[in-house]
Amino acid sequence: MKKFNVGVLGATGMVGQRFVTLLYKHPWFNINVLAASSKSAGKTYFEALNGRWNMSSPVPDNIKNMPVFDISNDINKIVNSVDFVFCAVDMLSSDIRILEETYARAECPVISNNSAHRNTPDVPMIIPEVNPEHAKIIFSQRKRLGTKKGFIAVKSNCSLQCYVPAIHPLLDFGVSKILVCTYQAISGAGKTFSSWPEMVDNIIPYIDGEEEKSEREPLKIWGKISGSEIKIATSPCITTQCIRVPVSNGHTAAVFVDFDRPPKLDQIVERWQKYKSPRETNNLPSAPKQFLHYFDNPLYPQIKSARELENGMAISIGRLRNDPQYNIKFVCMSHNTIRGAAGGAVLMAELLCSKGFIN
Ligand code: NAP
Repeated sequence: MKKFNVGVLGATGMVGQRFVTLLYKHPWFNINVLAASSKSAGKTYFEALNGRWNMSSPVPDNIKNMPVFDISNDINKIVNSVDFVFCAVDMLSSDIRILEETYARAECPVISNNSAHRNTPDVPMIIPEVNPEHAKIIFSQRKRLGTKKGFIAVKSNCSLQCYVPAIHPLLDFGVSKILVCTYQAISGAGKTFSSWPEMVDNIIPYIDGEEEKSEREPLKIWGKISGSEIKIATSPCITTQCIRVPVSNGHTAAVFVDFDRPPKLDQIVERWQKYKSPRETNNLPSAPKQFLHYFDNPLYPQIKSARELENGMAISIGRLRNDPQYNIKFVCMSHNTIRGAAGGAVLMAELLCSKGFIN
């Protein structure tokens, strides 16, 4: 595989920093451009961070002194220096929609962590182990945009990253209803305990917009390409409550599921343990060796021990049992800024490079 030059838009943020740590030694991708707001532009990356580095490993030496570009005002310079960009910015959704389309129309593919284009019908929202076939919609999107190379592909919301993969292998039992309560880490809001001290010893029972995304986005992932768009699935019926908890990294979900043809518990565990990712995903550099990990011990999965499993790319599941109201219930978790954000986006980019959508 050739080396691709990549840009990170939003490089100083929580997800952007995660991109930097995942990409600086990546076998296919070479960080060529770092970009952020006009406040950071013109500084070195280290200066622009201004003490905000939140990763456990230090800022990579070869990245520290790279210049930071302005995401909005340096578009031409950026697109001329890269093969594609990753985008994770904290801006108004309406501004992000325009920004991402401007990059795509300038023939620069955009792999986005933002929610702005998740509902655009010809923009694929790909979990490579679940719906890699949605990449084909890029042909229709390019027609609409009038581009040869440029397109937008999006990563789903981090909240659903553990329960959609856990339920996916069970769909043929006729999943009819899903109830989920998520317990989400503070890094999901781009925060740490020092930048958000109110979260120490606290729970906040509301995350703006999260429940709508958690209920709607799985239906796009489970949707089908029809003509020039992805038609969202009409079932299962999903209801969620999303809660912010005092955890640095890692989102947990308590999940209840009803089926038309309820399977036995051991059939479900077997589906999880034997789940094989689609062939095109298996050998990508960031793909976990085993995607779904089931824990028999009811004390697991715990955030501290499970979030780094498979370099943070695994989904951990436990406490499967029957329920008096729903057919089954279980608990699952994944790392929100790795699997749920930057890592998931890097894996999607690897998939799109290997399939020739980025070249
Ligand atoms: P963050 O830590 O607040 O970082 C925001 C980034 O956006 C910074 O690089 C910032 O640059 C840049 N930015 C802010 N205002 C800008 C502007 N007007 N023009 C250009 N750049 C601007 O946010 P985050 O947590 O990384 O989240 C970024 C995106 O990823 C959001 O859309 C979020 O919903 C999504 N996401 C986050 C997670 C997660 O777990 N955190 C998971 C999935 C998706 P400066 O440093 O120069 O201000």
